[in-house]
Amino acid sequence: MKYSIIGFPRIGIHRELKFETEKYFRNEITQIQYLEFVREQRALQWNKQLEHHVSFIPSNDYSLYDGMLDTTVMLNAIEKRYLDLNVDDLKTYFSMARGYQGKEGDVKAHTMKKWFNTNYHYMVPELEDDTCIKLRNLDFLQGYKQAKSIGIETKPVIIGPYTFLDLAKVNGTKDKKDYVTDLKKAYIDIIEQCHQAGVAWLQIDEPSLVKDMDQNDVALFVDFYQEILKYKGTTKVLLQTYFGDVRDCYHEICGLNFDGVGLDFVEGKQTYDLVKQTPLPKDKILFAGLINGKNIWKANYQDILRQLKQLSENQNVILNTSCSLLHVPYTIENETQMDSNIKKHFSFAYEKLKEMDEICQLFEDEHYQENELYIQNQNLFKESVLRTNQQVQDALKALKEDDFIRQVPRSQRRLVQKEKLNLPLLPTTTIGSFPQTKEVKQTRFKYKKGKISYDDYCHEMQRHIKECIELQEKIGLDVLVHGEFERNDMVEYFGQQLQGYVFTENGWVQSYGTRGLKPPIIFSDIKRVKPMTVDVIKYAQSLSKKEVKGMLTGPVTILNWSFPRVDISLKEMMYQIALAIKEEVLDLQAAGIHIIQIDEAALREKLPLRKADWHHDYLDFAIKAFRLCHSKVNPETQIHTHMCYSEFEDIIKEIDDMDADVITFEAARSKLTILDELKKNDFETEVGPGVYDIHSPRIPSVTEIEAALKVMLEKISVESLWVNPDCGLKTRGENETVASLINMITAAQNLRKQLNKN
Ligand code: GLN
Ligand code: ZN
Repeated sequence: MKYSIIGFPRIGIHRELKFETEKYFRNEITQIQYLEFVREQRALQWNKQLEHHVSFIPSNDYSLYDGMLDTTVMLNAIEKRYLDLNVDDLKTYFSMARGYQGKEGDVKAHTMKKWFNTNYHYMVPELEDDTCIKLRNLDFLQGYKQAKSIGIETKPVIIGPYTFLDLAKVNGTKDKKDYVTDLKKAYIDIIEQCHQAGVAWLQIDEPSLVKDMDQNDVALFVDFYQEILKYKGTTKVLLQTYFGDVRDCYHEICGLNFDGVGLDFVEGKQTYDLVKQTPLPKDKILFAGLINGKNIWKANYQDILRQLKQLSENQNVILNTSCSLLHVPYTIENETQMDSNIKKHFSFAYEKLKEMDEICQLFEDEHYQENELYIQNQNLFKESVLRTNQQVQDALKALKEDDFIRQVPRSQRRLVQKEKLNLPLLPTTTIGSFPQTKEVKQTRFKYKKGKISYDDYCHEMQRHIKECIELQEKIGLDVLVHGEFERNDMVEYFGQQLQGYVFTENGWVQSYGTRGLKPPIIFSDIKRVKPMTVDVIKYAQSLSKKEVKGMLTGPVTILNWSFPRVDISLKEMMYQIALAIKEEVLDLQAAGIHIIQIDEAALREKLPLRKADWHHDYLDFAIKAFRLCHSKVNPETQIHTHMCYSEFEDIIKEIDDMDADVITFEAARSKLTILDELKKNDFETEVGPGVYDIHSPRIPSVTEIEAALKVMLEKISVESLWVNPDCGLKTRGENETVASLINMITAAQNLRKQLNKN
């Protein structure tokens, strides 16, 4: 048995990519030095895979920022606004990723969206009327050639035309199908280039095949590949899918001239049945995605071997990951503090390679049940794991319908709140975090390393909070925040304080570009032990007569951005977290906080990708989990929530059902289309659609923000509109942040004046 992986993490085992890229942004290293570093990193990764006997080592899965952005550039779909900057290729690339502001021009970045049901964000390709799709360069073979030069045959990975077109946004007057002919031609060129370069296997990723497909979609997919595959020459082509099953086009896939087909057996609910009913034809190899690429629990060898054996009875099989390993950290070896009894249950990217290597060995061993590798693995699953807190389990069982409903309806609450909070029209606020300066990070770091005492740490944090409150008062924001300086991350911060969580020191997973997150791990029942945020929020509030928002992360997001257990239901884990957050909400209220924001940035993340599967009650219990957090607060307490970077259009109704009083969300990057949907659905919650994009360092002008607000006012009543950036400010520099906020506040003030005149 051989094994393959779909892709590997790339942020670097110690986040080297992040740090080098940032150095390059700051001109501390030259482009040549930067690209040399990239070559070294790639070689390091391949060698690691070689060491673990991966038979199909991927190349071109490494990206400086994002694989979709690489594809967009490869296909020459670079908008004129970036080309007009007339800067070098690498700068053009990063201007698409992050926007650009300089003497050459001022352009916004690409829209960023969540990659399917993950917390990775990709850059949305934008097709304009004058976009001329063609193969722009051979960068996608750079990795392949480099690896070959050091004696390693790799499998280049590219995103396929169907997924590219599916995820692209059309800006002009053309239709998506107008781009099909050129796309086909470009992919034919790609495949011919692979053949010429001597590529043995090319992996084409088509994750969009796991979404609902109608007849036209299936026809389009078939049309693409019938044509493209004619040109593959001696290169074998692997069609790779992940994040679900391909039930709408499985039979078409079998009929097309692919040499390998990668299917996801972890998230693909129907994958097993599909191949059982109709095994892949003999001319193809099944790349069986049995190893969970998204979670960090050790694989159960018994299950995997059983499935592998069954599948191999009637087709050629290669063991594969269910998706790219991009979504897990590098290695558990980086965790020096973690208890070895906990550690032994986990497997990060390197350990997954080892697992797959072992499974392949066991597969060949007739007496594998007596093999030490097997026995060791099975021992892990014998221990009855980890249900520890009967009290929490009982509290969950005792929940009644009432616990999910706020007693006073929103329309009435609104009146009491307006009276109590006394805010101006178009109130200005921010999403929570302020720039995490070097000093702030250092304070946290020093405390973590035991270099300063807890008292000193608190003292320093208070100083940061005080400065932040003073700044906000000075520039004239209406609803203030404490700045979230004590939080390294909005989920990890809570994970660390909740019983039942385990967290890592170095378990970084790429979220977008240079940004990594360290998802905490749900290890047993979740329980709040003591208040988590009350002290800091109370302190911040004591410094100002204006309202300071209490800032929490919601249960859906905490769960979705953690590595969950695989043996307990999502609903149960979510409700447990909700009970913990509820206690915190009530404590904040008791401490005199009048506005409490419960962030649900990841509300949508575990929603099935296929609408056909939505009846599985995910949305139902996710919304209820949120309501459980705030159902018992007084009518005067205003509940805010915040969401970002996913499609909300088709779940507007459910978002309104969360019964928050105010929602702020990302809109700046997705061009405000969501506003129409809000209007259509008579959205009741007050809204703050972000007026500028905080993921880009550029400073929006007053005029630009005023214009955005005017567009919003066409769709949203003036009493319901809030003015805020589209997400937290933690990743931004101080100067650009202050300048942007001042422009935002000025725009709101200008509008207020105009409204008063009318
Ligand atoms: N309150 C958080 C912050 O401002 C929200 C972050 C997010 O939505 N991702 O950082
Ligand atoms: Zn956000």
